[in-house]
Amino acid sequence: MTTFKELGLSEGTLETLAAIGYEMPTPIQEQTIKLALAGHDVIGQAQTGTGKTAAFGLPTIEKIVPGAGLQALIIAPTRELAVQNQEELFKFGKDKKLKVRIVFGGSSIERQIRDLKSGAEIVVGTPGRMVDLIKRKALDLSKITTLILDEADEMLNMGFLDDIEFIIAKTPEERQTLLFSATMPDAIKKIGVKFMRDPQHIKVKTSQMTADQIEQFFIKTKDFEKFDILTRLLDVQKPELAIIFGRTKRRVDQLTRGLKIRGYRAEGIHGDLDQSKRLSVLKDFKANHLDILVATDVAARGLDISGVTHVYNYDITQDQESYVHRIGRTGRAGKSGVSITFVTYNEMGYLRAIENLTKREMIGMKPPTKEEAYASSLADAKNSVNRDLTDPEFAGKLAKFDKDVDALLGEFDARQIAALLLQGRVKDPDTQEKVDIPAEKPLPANGGDRFRSFGNNRGGGRGNGGSHNRGGNSRDRDRRDGGRNRDDRRGNDDRRGGYRGKNDRNKDQGYKVERKNDGKRNFSKKPNNKIKQPGGKGGFVMRERGND
Ligand code: ADP
Ligand code: MG
Repeated sequence: MTTFKELGLSEGTLETLAAIGYEMPTPIQEQTIKLALAGHDVIGQAQTGTGKTAAFGLPTIEKIVPGAGLQALIIAPTRELAVQNQEELFKFGKDKKLKVRIVFGGSSIERQIRDLKSGAEIVVGTPGRMVDLIKRKALDLSKITTLILDEADEMLNMGFLDDIEFIIAKTPEERQTLLFSATMPDAIKKIGVKFMRDPQHIKVKTSQMTADQIEQFFIKTKDFEKFDILTRLLDVQKPELAIIFGRTKRRVDQLTRGLKIRGYRAEGIHGDLDQSKRLSVLKDFKANHLDILVATDVAARGLDISGVTHVYNYDITQDQESYVHRIGRTGRAGKSGVSITFVTYNEMGYLRAIENLTKREMIGMKPPTKEEAYASSLADAKNSVNRDLTDPEFAGKLAKFDKDVDALLGEFDARQIAALLLQGRVKDPDTQEKVDIPAEKPLPANGGDRFRSFGNNRGGGRGNGGSHNRGGNSRDRDRRDGGRNRDDRRGNDDRRGGYRGKNDRNKDQGYKVERKNDGKRNFSKKPNNKIKQPGGKGGFVMRERGND
């Protein structure tokens, strides 16, 4: 293993990396940083979550001369990704006190024009807004020495090729160009030929990127049973931070609503939500105000949400690549994670096709029973009572009820009262709110086989929508739901009552709640075996296929 120092980074940068908890470079960093520092153009191909930001960010920062004007431009497909890049680059550039500005559509261009005048050395943004700013002469690219295309395949899918070419044409020819992408369709290779000088192509193989740190399970189920199984899983597994993927926007809305009704701290994101709502949901999720994010594939693409312990594929993906992206939301940067995929009987072909690609078998899991879910919830409820009553501060707050308690005790049996209060803390599957999630059409049977014959052609199946349709917010490729997704989103009354958030429960059980927003990454540490593996739950994992 090469260290960051051996890659040739400066002392200042090394100190910054130590401060933010990067201990060892990831494979893509290890292979690209040296090349980029040596001045090469680089094409880096690696899946989401493999540390591409530092792969291009660190060498870029090294080159920049503070105070010498705009020298690096980073183009990213979405505002969220631009925001993430900005945040990371800012951290990397702290030592040199670099200014990193961000520009994207959907928010005041005047403000961004003002921001740009402050003399930033690095600008991050989305293609459309950059073009606007260039046309308004607010963005001067004449001194750019490094140009970065992040998530290039996604930008092309979204129809940004013309914008990107326009932008590139405004930069000096002798610039360095770094291009990062999860996949390498021909269109990307063409960019390499057209706009890059002898680019060095670095590819981190899929097998290295996924799977190894992720326990992958599947549950065979009928569509209408999925929701109850899901909430039981949540109760038993108590994920610290979970993402649930639904196939369509409509599905995401319905799941989010159902989860809220049952008392989970969940929010959904998809392309129909306006920008500020999406950003605020992401912020809440990162800040631990939410435990569950429900998302469509596209909404979640490339988002750096670290600390996700569980990924639930409520609907299996049609193409294998999306699957890899989804489960890559957990197990990020060397951490372990769990993924559970629901699959209906006639979708098994898709599951097999996915296994072929990842070269890993998914383990068939028997869903937890109602009783198991209840037992788990009851244990939590008891723990929470115990914790509250042994917490002197909390107990102090109860003193004010003394008189009323006396009155109640005069009238009722203490056991009855306690039982009633316990009931408020437990999730009882027998009395829980019934939630009806309308069926999604299952994927066509044998689709997996069909897909296989397409290989990795991303232009293929639905969900890839490689067509160049852009504009507005409808970037989600999951157009399957047509316009029907504008479901009633009201009625999210939070019925949590006395039910406590799961992080509290984790503490009760001696689980350390490890949040990632402290900027620390335990990259070289052991996989986090604090994550509850379903297997640990007393034999409700069963092998369904194969004879290992
Ligand atoms: P990508 O752009 O490939 O999707 P990111 O650059 O967003 O991946 O990195 C994913 C996560 O891993 C981020 O939280 C990032 O801070 C973290 N990370 C990246 N490189 C390292 C490293 N060398 N050590 C520890 N954490 C890292
Ligand atoms: Mg990235």
